Amino acid sequence: MLNYVASPNELENKVILVTGAGGGIGKAAALSFAAHGATVILLGRTVKKLENVYDQIVTSGGPEPAIVPLDLKGATAQHYRDMAATIINQFGKLDGLLHNASVLGHLEPLKQITEELFDEVMQVNLKSEFLMTQALLDPLALAPCASVLFTSSSVGNKGRAYWGTYAISKFATEGMMQVLADEYSNTSLRFNAINPGATRTSMRAKAFPAENPDDLKAPQDIMPLYLYLMSDESKSENGKTFVAQPK
Ligand code: NAP
Repeated sequence: MLNYVASPNELENKVILVTGAGGGIGKAAALSFAAHGATVILLGRTVKKLENVYDQIVTSGGPEPAIVPLDLKGATAQHYRDMAATIINQFGKLDGLLHNASVLGHLEPLKQITEELFDEVMQVNLKSEFLMTQALLDPLALAPCASVLFTSSSVGNKGRAYWGTYAISKFATEGMMQVLADEYSNTSLRFNAINPGATRTSMRAKAFPAENPDDLKAPQDIMPLYLYLMSDESKSENGKTFVAQPK
């Protein structure tokens, strides 16, 4: 699956929502899904970046995407309920959901983490995923074989000093994925997570400023796994965390 080769129309007729689609891994995923035929819903907080991805998809002949400008920090359950209703009205179903947007917060000893920063990171990285998934279960159930993908991290199943709230949010993300996978195990809806591994993005540069980015894989290099998990080839996978760059 790490070397999965998707056919050019692998995701044809699928509607896939990607959070944090304006940059980094989310942008690569949105471009890759669209290049394989999916209609992509681009969700993010910076409209200019989303428009740039939209233009790239349309210019390269992909299906016309939709743009959802939303700051996960301030979004409420009602925003997600409205989004679910719009998706059902406009597309009739949702075949894929990639929870990708996250913030790093600060790398610091747990003793120093402020309540404000804790709440912000948990809101963006975890609570928004909970509320969005809950609201989108209805359009996901209308698709024949929907895939929900969460994004974890190496610090999402083994704690590491100074990775504080980010690590805690990723542990909880994996937990939520496993709970949902178990609840829906007798249905066609599946829930999995990806740990992308060290990837050349602005978040990675913030976490490891001294690192040479040229030594890292680019987001597009890890897309075979994302395509596999969004394609019907992975319909029997449920409740697992996939590592995009095993050591
Ligand atoms: P990135 O380059 O920082 O991109 C993060 C994306 O999330 C951006 O599009 C950003 O939008 C969006 N976002 C952040 N806060 C948001 C908010 N409040 N509302 C809406 N969107 C928001 O990060 P990345 O490296 O691509 O990370 C993607 C995922 O992979 C994350 O879940 C991260 O934890 C995980 N991950 C990455 C690595 C790595 O080495 N890169 C390793 C392990 C896990 P703006 O551009 O508008 O800010």
